[in-house]
Amino acid sequence: MSIIKPARRWQPAFYPFKKEKFSARLLGRIELAVKGPVFGCRMCGNCLLQETAFICPMECPKGMRNGPCGGITPEKNCYVDESRKCVWYAIYERSRKMGRQKMLLEVLPPLDWYKVGTETWGVVVRQVRKTGIWTFIRSLFLKDKIKKSEVWDSVFKTIRQPAWWMGDSEYHKPAYEEPASLLEKKLRNGEFVIATEVSPPLGANPAKIIREIELVRPWVTAVNFTDASSASPKMSGIACCKVANDLNCEAVFQIAARDTTRTGLQSAVIGSGQMGVRNILCVTGDNPRVGPSPASDMNFVDVDSVQMLWILRRMRDEGIYLDGRKIKYPPKFFLGAATTPFASDPELQAIRDQKKINAGAQFFQTNLIFEPDRLDQWLEQLDKRDLLDKVYILAGISPLKSYKIARYLHDKVPGVFLPKDILTRMEKAGDGASEEGFQIALELIDSIKSKKGIHGIHLMTMGWEEIVGRLVAESGILQQ
Ligand code: SF4
Repeated sequence: MSIIKPARRWQPAFYPFKKEKFSARLLGRIELAVKGPVFGCRMCGNCLLQETAFICPMECPKGMRNGPCGGITPEKNCYVDESRKCVWYAIYERSRKMGRQKMLLEVLPPLDWYKVGTETWGVVVRQVRKTGIWTFIRSLFLKDKIKKSEVWDSVFKTIRQPAWWMGDSEYHKPAYEEPASLLEKKLRNGEFVIATEVSPPLGANPAKIIREIELVRPWVTAVNFTDASSASPKMSGIACCKVANDLNCEAVFQIAARDTTRTGLQSAVIGSGQMGVRNILCVTGDNPRVGPSPASDMNFVDVDSVQMLWILRRMRDEGIYLDGRKIKYPPKFFLGAATTPFASDPELQAIRDQKKINAGAQFFQTNLIFEPDRLDQWLEQLDKRDLLDKVYILAGISPLKSYKIARYLHDKVPGVFLPKDILTRMEKAGDGASEEGFQIALELIDSIKSKKGIHGIHLMTMGWEEIVGRLVAESGILQQ
């Protein structure tokens, strides 16, 4: 990540087993010897240093290639490995200093694993020759930034944006007219929407989830089913969506990047389309570090949430798989993403969110909000970027059932922060903590519901489904 970082941090992350010409191997070694210490290069073979302020993002333990996850600690460290700074925070900071923030908006592709571990200098040289060696050398001294970036893009864009991806920095309006789901229909009609989430059962018996769906269904428009939250196995999201469909309840199919590959993602979405699932929410997912032991692979997601959105939007709107094959009957869905407004500073977070919107996010469900004032700062930044009319935002609210839960959320859940006064109120409430938590939720809803850009509430009850009806009724949001 920084200049000269000895030892394992700049070692190549991968050594694929394949035969390469001696010259290519030698070039690869030289490239690593130079780019390793200077840029923290991990030899991913799919270089995108240009777009990331010359810091290699492959140092991120999750392998995020499009911006940070929601897990940066308040000290700006990585929550997976707290001994190191979040590499994406460093990229954002350096981009800001270098005036290259615009470049952070380009939707970058997942790894082509066949290229991993191989050199990229040879490819760059071939591209420079195509552009013209003198044109390229002259561009190094150009003061006109636009001309300079045109020349550089002719060399580097073809490398970082292969034909099977073609990512860009533009907003793409959904290519369909009629709303894909009831949730989308209500949002389009300007209704204040309430969604909630139900945690899938640990066993194969659906009785628990049926009971919980029936409890919340009269009060909400849609129900999310978390995808192995906290990296802990439970009934799959698709099975829960089937149960919800059978009960005539609108489901939001949550897919975590952590447990899916590009192949699995596309197959799951075709399958869920066949089942009539009309809302999909793409999340990165908690790292196995926060899950039970033994932990699964803590490194590398195959596709990050931005890439998931890009792939799914193109499947729906352009009718193509990632490999370019045509889909005869493309699935129809309303596409959403999670966001953590307070993960980093609001300005940087807004860049990440803009990228998700450009990639295909039509609605956001936010992480838990306990500080409405900080929410304003984030909304302001989205507004500055002209995003508030491009995405529907459902603010995440949780009624706290006990002081223990409040502490757990504050201390253990990445991206969730409870202000001191809420923690104190919960602690002092003693046996009345659940009522206090309920009142806090009412106050939060009251202060959030009329904010510009907020279109609804996403209730995360953490197993306290019985409270949904009372909360919705007493907060008055149903009438809105
Ligand atoms: S906090 Fe998230 S984005 Fe940042 S380095 Fe860690 S895993 Fe990567």
